[in-house]
Amino acid sequence: MASVSAHPDVMEKLVSLCKRRGFIFQSSEIYGGTGSVWDYGPLGVELKKNLKDRWWHAMVRARDDIEGLDAAILMHPRVWEASGHVAGFTDPLVECRNCKRRFRADDPSIKGTPGMPDAQCPVCGAKGTLSEPRLFNLMFKTFMGPVEESAAVVYLRPETAQGIYVNFLNVQQSMRQKVPFGIAQIGKAFRNEITPGNFIFRTREFEQMEMQFFVDPEAKPPERSDMEWFEYWMAQRMQWHQGLGLAPERLQFHRHTKDELAHYARAAFDVEFDFGGSLGFQEIEGVHHRGDFDLSQHQKFSNKKLEYFDQPNNRRFVPYVIETSAGADRTTLAVLVNAYREEEVPGESEGRTVLGLSPALAPIKAGVFPLVKKDGMPEMAHRVADDLRRVFPIFYDDGGAIGRRYRRQDEVGTPFGITIDGQSTQDGTVTVRDRDTLQQVRVSADQLRAYLGERIGPSA
Ligand code: ATP
Repeated sequence: MASVSAHPDVMEKLVSLCKRRGFIFQSSEIYGGTGSVWDYGPLGVELKKNLKDRWWHAMVRARDDIEGLDAAILMHPRVWEASGHVAGFTDPLVECRNCKRRFRADDPSIKGTPGMPDAQCPVCGAKGTLSEPRLFNLMFKTFMGPVEESAAVVYLRPETAQGIYVNFLNVQQSMRQKVPFGIAQIGKAFRNEITPGNFIFRTREFEQMEMQFFVDPEAKPPERSDMEWFEYWMAQRMQWHQGLGLAPERLQFHRHTKDELAHYARAAFDVEFDFGGSLGFQEIEGVHHRGDFDLSQHQKFSNKKLEYFDQPNNRRFVPYVIETSAGADRTTLAVLVNAYREEEVPGESEGRTVLGLSPALAPIKAGVFPLVKKDGMPEMAHRVADDLRRVFPIFYDDGGAIGRRYRRQDEVGTPFGITIDGQSTQDGTVTVRDRDTLQQVRVSADQLRAYLGERIGPSA
């Protein structure tokens, strides 16, 4: 259990900012909302897309040993028998007969033993109303075809990984890949979580960014062994999270103990981020050494060989899998929590709220502001905005005092503010204000693209 963090709990403020400024809305809000499902608004969709693009670039495009995939959400129902999800993807659940709320049986806020008279409901406070724990499958069921009968049951995938395993040979053979190599995909996953919550931290519909790396169980030096690959991915993934701008002191590894490991797993660790307040350090990504469990299970259930043929050594084997599994939404939340700050501004009575997003992740890269709505300034500002918009997402704003316009962009993490003033129309220069240092420099308008490009860096 996470202990209370030294960082403040900013969740409530963040939820409100995200709604007010078009990052994240509650799903179906006008109908009273849907439990723990969220919609990404115009700025949220850009932020999450930038994050996913970075992952895709690092994991797929920048490497020749990982291939991309986009497998379907609906899969053959036997997949989930093979994977163990039908039998084992369950959480023990208790229900309060009084207020009808459900809790995980291991919820630390439950006092006493569920099913016994001493147990107390953590929400309504009633005593002796909590049921005995029952197993509850977290998969969403639906029906394929026109008839709702048990033969037509399919599941919404609870993880993206299985789409990778069943395509292992398709990808390997079509792309002529040699072990060790990986397959990566980003996609939706669905879990009927008993205790969702904390905004987009735990939701019932979410996106995963998963990569399965297939290695030779008997690799000999100079090849990396399976455990060396595991260590390699551990370091790589931590580096990637740091590259998002997450503060190093808010990131840590949690290595699973023997008791925490799944029965087939040989080793596992989580990358944890400190979300602040009572949430503290929580998993944002899992890296798992899964042995040959998944491919062997699919061989057994499908009666199809999923072996790799090692031609030079004339050997066939079922590879081991090292998995990296990150949540796109949960990592987006980590980025938002990490970026949120309220601060005083020297010489000003009003403070400001800032999202200190790294320029590469920021949904808007620059605000463009004519100082006043006359003297040719709006015309020049439009020209500057149109020119930049071909390369970066830009926001044009001519409403209100310039200070207020800066503040509005600070709050959504826009790293640069470009102001067109009286001098601009004379000499073709504009001021560029840095969100974090508040420093302003004059830059020639025709140099702006290069100036910003250098500071924003590649978006992926
Ligand atoms: P937890 O214990 O927090 O439920 P898990 O161990 O079940 O997570 P994995 O199955 O390893 O999670 O999934 C990998 C990643 O997917 C997690 O690190 C997390 O970022 C994300 N994830 C899992 N479940 C959810 C969820 N319900 N909502 C949002 N993201 C999730």
